[in-house]
Amino acid sequence: MEFEPVIGLEVHAQLKTQTKIFCGCSTQFGAAPNTQTCPVCLGMPGVLPVLNRSVVDFTLRMALATGCTISRESRFARKNYFYPDLPKGYQISQYELPIAEHGGIDIEADGRPRRVRIRRIHMEEDAGKLTHDPHRPVSRVDLNRTGVPLIEIVSEPDIDSAAAAGAYLRQLRSIVRYLGICDGNLEEGSFRCDANVSIRPQGSSGLGTRTELKNLNSFRFVEKAIEHEINRQKEVLMDGGAIVQETRLWDPATGRTVSMRGKEEAHDYRYFPDPDLLPLVIDADWIEAVRRSLPELPDARRVRFVEQYGLPDYDAGVLTSDRELADYFEACLKAFPQPKPVSNWIMGPLLGLLNAGGIPIEQAPILPAALADLLKLVDSGAISVKTAKNVFDEMAASDKTAAAIVAEKSLSQISDTGAIEAVVQDVLDRNPKEVAAYRGGKTKLMGFFVGEVMKATRGQANPKTVNELLRKALF
Ligand SMILES: [Zn+2]
Repeated sequence: MEFEPVIGLEVHAQLKTQTKIFCGCSTQFGAAPNTQTCPVCLGMPGVLPVLNRSVVDFTLRMALATGCTISRESRFARKNYFYPDLPKGYQISQYELPIAEHGGIDIEADGRPRRVRIRRIHMEEDAGKLTHDPHRPVSRVDLNRTGVPLIEIVSEPDIDSAAAAGAYLRQLRSIVRYLGICDGNLEEGSFRCDANVSIRPQGSSGLGTRTELKNLNSFRFVEKAIEHEINRQKEVLMDGGAIVQETRLWDPATGRTVSMRGKEEAHDYRYFPDPDLLPLVIDADWIEAVRRSLPELPDARRVRFVEQYGLPDYDAGVLTSDRELADYFEACLKAFPQPKPVSNWIMGPLLGLLNAGGIPIEQAPILPAALADLLKLVDSGAISVKTAKNVFDEMAASDKTAAAIVAEKSLSQISDTGAIEAVVQDVLDRNPKEVAAYRGGKTKLMGFFVGEVMKATRGQANPKTVNELLRKALF
């Protein structure tokens, strides 16, 4: 029997607001434990939460960017569960009336475009961080993260492969980064993903029992964990077994998912409206103001890059996947308006350099104007492309300009006809047998002569001039 996977993703994005969702504590990452807390986020009796307006602004940005319908009135609820990282004994979240519903984004995976619908986006507070000592029966809690604002983006189960899940996540991350509402850092946990995975007989419309996968803190893990889970479920069903609804943890060391606990149902949490918070009412003006403030989003920018700069769709996709990378490209173009060469240098040497060093584009060691200066030297014929690659490496390792490196190492391409003519004559004088053979019809020897001249000029002779002069001299 053939099976098809049905996958839905729940993404938690930590919003980059200055302060927490219901109090004025800082959200800065990396502070000493428990230094960014107050009676509100510590859950002391008698305190009252006050909603941070920026959290609503940021959430509206995401909701509008993904085509969601905004609820003019939404509500906060208490999600009850006890765990020491949450001192109140409940998490404030949105349940029955979320702020946004019924959106979607377009992705491309497995060689075809498709749309993944978004069921809902809601706001909630994060919990603290619990660390267990592996050597002693001691656990420590850091409540700095308690009350940091999150949005949860819940997709419909429209995803049918691990690759499509990866593409959806990447696109979602690109959007939150374009919007400037979340830094999208999976490793630091500011962009987290849980995956609900089930399989069903090909072509059937029912849903199989699903498992929830956690601990997916890189795009690669998301794809590998889903792939593994699909195969595990297939094996269980083929052996006549049944899938158990549960939460499973991805173990990157073994490349397997392992059972963590039985999956809770919504009713286990005893949700009820938070009596301390009024319903959130959003008027049309507020929505319009946010809509007008939205930046150009990745899909629109990609289309514009193809139309305005004549770039291939592939280049446009790579360059616009990240807002800063697209900005870098456009900054280069300001100084050197030749889109395709600029794209080649960014996608090749620059991204190669950044990926190798794990450096974000914002910290690129070569600024756009400096790269443009290098490309101008190539364009004017002052240096060859081969030399330019070396100059590029040297620029990355120092803070020297392209012109300074070229001058310092006398790397300028020799285009002076007189100088090259002398070398050509010398090469021909030293190789009389080859000259005779060439004149006798072995024209393939041209490559040999060009090579000799280039060698004698340390690769700095303009190849076009060399060819012209050789042809003239050998005629
Ligand atoms: Zn606080």
